[in-house]
Amino acid sequence: MSEGSTYDAVIIGAGVIGCAIALDLARRGLRTLNVDRGPAPGHGSTSWSAAIIRPYYSTIDGTALAYEAHFAWQNWIDYLGYQPEGALHYNECGCLVLEAADNRQLAGTRAIMREVGVPFTDVAAGDLADWLPGADLSQFSPARRIDDPQFGETSGEPITGAMFCPTGGYINDPQLATAQIAGAVERAGGSFRFHDTVLAIHQSSGRITGLTCAKSGLIHAPIVINAAGPASRWVSDLVGPRQPDQIATRPLRQEVATVPMPQAASGPSLRHVLTDADCGIYMRPEQSGHLLIGSLEPACDILEYLDSEEYETSLTDQWTNQVWRAALRFPALGIPNTAQGFAALYDVSEDWIPVYDRGDVGGYFTAIGTSGNQFKNAPLVGQLMGHLIDSVTNGADHDRAPLQFRLPATGRAIDLAAFSRLRPINRASSFSVLG
Ligand SMILES: Cc1cc2nc3c(=O)[nH]c(=O)nc-3n(C[C@H](O)[C@H](O)[C@H](O)COP(=O)(O)OP(=O)(O)OC[C@H]3O[C@@H](n4cnc5c(N)ncnc54)[C@H](O)[C@@H]3O)c2cc1C
Repeated sequence: MSEGSTYDAVIIGAGVIGCAIALDLARRGLRTLNVDRGPAPGHGSTSWSAAIIRPYYSTIDGTALAYEAHFAWQNWIDYLGYQPEGALHYNECGCLVLEAADNRQLAGTRAIMREVGVPFTDVAAGDLADWLPGADLSQFSPARRIDDPQFGETSGEPITGAMFCPTGGYINDPQLATAQIAGAVERAGGSFRFHDTVLAIHQSSGRITGLTCAKSGLIHAPIVINAAGPASRWVSDLVGPRQPDQIATRPLRQEVATVPMPQAASGPSLRHVLTDADCGIYMRPEQSGHLLIGSLEPACDILEYLDSEEYETSLTDQWTNQVWRAALRFPALGIPNTAQGFAALYDVSEDWIPVYDRGDVGGYFTAIGTSGNQFKNAPLVGQLMGHLIDSVTNGADHDRAPLQFRLPATGRAIDLAAFSRLRPINRASSFSVLG
């Protein structure tokens, strides 16, 4: 390999994860390049993100990371290090989580939140009508599909209570957030190439030496990071076959519905992010008076894993199922004649927990398997990947003696073994978008 440009690190992908990694590495003084086949930062799966910021996950490390993320978004300008143009907004409306059979009445979640020190308040069943005006607070679980004769049947019992987490909400524009991180990367000296596809990753004597791109041709680099989102699996294949004991990733098709916000006498029925495991959906207010509805992957939903990146972009009866489940909770929800919303891909790992790790080949790293739940964590992922890449490059044996990462705002240390490619499948996971 003689001709071609040279960088200290090349990041495959300029989504929110790839840009955040580039920012940390550039700030550490590395000459970075993000290569993306798309037209601009954040035009991959990031652009479809519901961008919900919530602190509840099924594991201690997942919860600690997500709680920390709230502070990064709160102090966004400090994180970026410059005053960007554009109206990015963190709507800190908080998150309401209903108790349900599916989440075992939140007992485990509350215990993890207490352990990590995440603030929350309990909401009594009798107060729920004030939190969700106009809602039908009956229990409908298990979540069903609309062709099930028992769809809409209730046990006759009301929802038993909820938990409210004030440190959460949503970001109004995930693509703009990514563009702003990319702006910080450029200010720190990093570069981008768009409309360019990585075709090959090169190695010699067990170490990465560079890659070949469709437009740019050969690029020399001792460090290559796979941040390719739902294409992560095919980028991994460019390095070599995955060992059977390593966590795999694959794309999963998802639909998200947007419908007019149901109204009660006192105003909109939903003012917070709502996790409704009883109906198998999550919801949040969307701009211009709409409600956004996604699935929590209840047992009744058929998960559409893909063997290629081609997917059906038009909405199907999955849209109808999600909207009807939302209408059980909010009877005033007017179901539109025309489906509005979108289909997109998650990059799902075997246990719905990401793989933030080194690879088997020296100089190869992965930030993949984000499983529909890592937009919020991106600023921290950039920092923990920077720590990991720096430590491993300087000789740390992360596989044998897993690194710790100290979360800057809360001060808690998380064990990066939790995100290792070599971990056993984490049975504590929700095996859903909740992580
Ligand atoms: C519908 C939906 C809702 C979501 N909701 C939430 C939420 O509420 N909260 C939350 O925290 N997370 C959420 N997520 C998850 C979150 O958005 C993702 O985890 C995150 O955006 C992934 O970012 P990424 O940078 O890894 O991937 P991407 O944004 O997909 O970026 C990967 C990039 O790699 C590029 N690429 C791939 N292969 C190549 C190649 N060979 N050569 C060059 N470029 C390549 C692609 O063009 C792409 O731009 C949601 C995701 C989806 C799809």
